[in-house]
Amino acid sequence: MVEPLPHVREIPPYVPGKPPPARPGLTSYKLSSNENPYPPLPGVLAAAEQAVASMNRYPDMGCALLYDALAAKLGVQVDQLAAGTGSVALIYHLLSAYCGPGDEVVHAWRSFEAYPIAVTAAGAAGVKVPVTADGRHDLDAMAAAITERTKVVLVCTPNNPTGPALTHAEVATFVAAVPAHVVVVVDEAYLEFVRMADPVDGLALVRDHANVVLLRTFSKAYGLAGLRVGYAVAAPEIAGALRAVALPFGVSSVAQAAAVASLAAEDELLARVDGLVAERARMVAGITAAGWWVPEPQGNFVWLGVGDRAAELAAAAGDVGLALRPFAGEGVRVSVGEAEATDRLLHLLGSLEPPS
Ligand SMILES: *Cc1c(COP(=O)(O)O)cnc(C)c1O
Repeated sequence: MVEPLPHVREIPPYVPGKPPPARPGLTSYKLSSNENPYPPLPGVLAAAEQAVASMNRYPDMGCALLYDALAAKLGVQVDQLAAGTGSVALIYHLLSAYCGPGDEVVHAWRSFEAYPIAVTAAGAAGVKVPVTADGRHDLDAMAAAITERTKVVLVCTPNNPTGPALTHAEVATFVAAVPAHVVVVVDEAYLEFVRMADPVDGLALVRDHANVVLLRTFSKAYGLAGLRVGYAVAAPEIAGALRAVALPFGVSSVAQAAAVASLAAEDELLARVDGLVAERARMVAGITAAGWWVPEPQGNFVWLGVGDRAAELAAAAGDVGLALRPFAGEGVRVSVGEAEATDRLLHLLGSLEPPS
């Protein structure tokens, strides 16, 4: 028998959000993957279609147009950027560049479910630091969990799936406490949805610290989840390492073209984000009015900490045509999507007993 390396067997499975159940006579809604419910903008679709016509050619491995557009938008140098097939890929690239067997990666838990998968795949050991009762990172405990084996710390803000975001002051204090040889990843997948005082200024962190990496994605606010494109911003040394370990030609021409077109249409896309943020507020107000509590959501999703009722709540939602994302024994994550889906969720929660 041919055996993979022992750690390959230990990789936990990724549980993707389920598609909505089909219910005759009822429009179903998928609120299980934090996707953007809006269809592509016509201009973005046209740019992607134009790129499809050149599918016989390899993509630009240097992602030149995308890096130029990002550098101009962010005010960084092109050599501070690294693109990947979604920011999930960049987590893999980062861990393969900075970790190996015997190394430790500190991250909050519950947090993004891809973290333990990527950490285990890298052969490293994850050190999970529980989030607080209100779903926030416990940064003091995370700093205390750093040992001489720690190579990377993953900070997810806003935190998927619990929702709250950290303030800039909190993250800046944390980064200052982390040894300079440990890489601090700030996963900002939901950056555009944040509406709070003192939001994280990731670019300032990168300017001040050579060990900070920002991860951003076109999957959520920009609505390109199916095309797989995200990027990292960091000091040139780290960005260069990420580009060096990346799979050649990973980010397709179609994804690059759509991302560039999305940056050009950013105002329109961010207006849609404003709409989703308003819908989030309406969802939270309705949930609260029904007697339920949620941690402060700063992404495009809310967290219902129902503990061992998670499967039951997701099943009840399925019965009314809503796909939610249960985390067994912990809670249920609900993506913010169409208004009709929010109405149906609120109706359902109003008919159930809130957790005590
Ligand atoms: C969705 C998400 C990502 C990025 O996903 P990609 O589609 O791979 O860009 C990264 N981090 C978190 C926390 C996410 O929820």
